[in-house]
Amino acid sequence: MREYDVVIIGGSAAGATAAITTRRFYPDKKVLIIKREENVMIPCGIPYIYGDVGSTAKNLIPDAILEKNDIDLLIGEASVIKKDEKFVEIQNGEKVKYDKLIIASGSDPLVPPIKGSDKDNVFIVKKDDKYLDSLLKEVNKAKDMVIIGGGFIGMEFADECKKNRDINISVVEMLPHCLMLVFDEEFCKQGEELIIERGVNVITNEKVEEIT
Ligand SMILES: Cc1cc2nc3c(=O)[nH]c(=O)nc-3n(C[C@H](O)[C@H](O)[C@H](O)COP(=O)(O)OP(=O)(O)OC[C@H]3O[C@@H](n4cnc5c(N)ncnc54)[C@H](O)[C@@H]3O)c2cc1C
Repeated sequence: MREYDVVIIGGSAAGATAAITTRRFYPDKKVLIIKREENVMIPCGIPYIYGDVGSTAKNLIPDAILEKNDIDLLIGEASVIKKDEKFVEIQNGEKVKYDKLIIASGSDPLVPPIKGSDKDNVFIVKKDDKYLDSLLKEVNKAKDMVIIGGGFIGMEFADECKKNRDINISVVEMLPHCLMLVFDEEFCKQGEELIIERGVNVITNEKVEEIT
C-alpha cells in the first residue's frame, strides 16, 4: 500500500491550492492528489472555451505546477475512506494510506426539474473536457441557442458564444434582472444593456416551464 503524509481527493481549485500550500509550509511531507480525471478544467475558464480561449485543451490546470512542487498524482476515483485505518480506496481497488486527508471533491451542476431537460441538444455546464468538447461542436453548428439562467455563468456563456458566430442567443432569467443575485439593480441593468448591445436577446421575469 502506498503511504503519504497528506492525501488530497480532487485536483481542481481547492485541491491544487491545498497541495501547493501544504508543500510551502511543510516541505518535508509526502503529498498526493487523487484526481478523477486526467484533464482537470479551470472551471472559471469554461465559458471562454466557446469564445476567446477556443478549446478545452487551452483551459486545463497544468500538471506541471504540481510536479514542480513535488506533488504526486494518482488518476482515479476515490470510492471508500476508512477513517479508523486511515486509508483511501480507489475504484480499481488500489489503497493509499494517509496521515491527514483533505477532501476537495467540489460540486456538480444542479439540473432544475424542468420538463424536457433530458432531451437531446440540452446541455449542462459540466467540468468534463470530453463533454465540453461535444458541446463546442454543437455550439459551432447551432443557429439558435437558449441559455436558462442569467447569472455569471449564463451571461458569460452568452457573451462568449456570440463572439464570431452567426447565432441567435436568448438568455431567460426568472428574476426581474440578470445577475440579480449578486448586484443591485443599477449594475444589473448595465450588464443587460451591454449584452443586448452585443446582440444577445434577454428575457427576464419569466420562468422556463418546459423544453420541447
Ligand atoms: C462555468 C464556471 C465558471 C466559474 N467562474 C468563476 C469565476 O469567474 N470566478 C470564481 O471565483 N469562481 C468561478 N467559478 C466557481 C469556481 O470554479 C469553483 O468555486 C471552484 O471550481 C471550486 O473548486 P473546488 O476544487 O472546490 O471544486 P471543483 O472545481 O468542483 O473540483 C473538484 C474536483 O474533485 C474531483 N473529484 C470529485 N470526487 C472525486 C473522487 N471521489 N475522487 C477523485 N476526484 C474527485 C472532481 O472530478 C473535480 O475535478 C466558476 C464555476 C464554473 C462551473
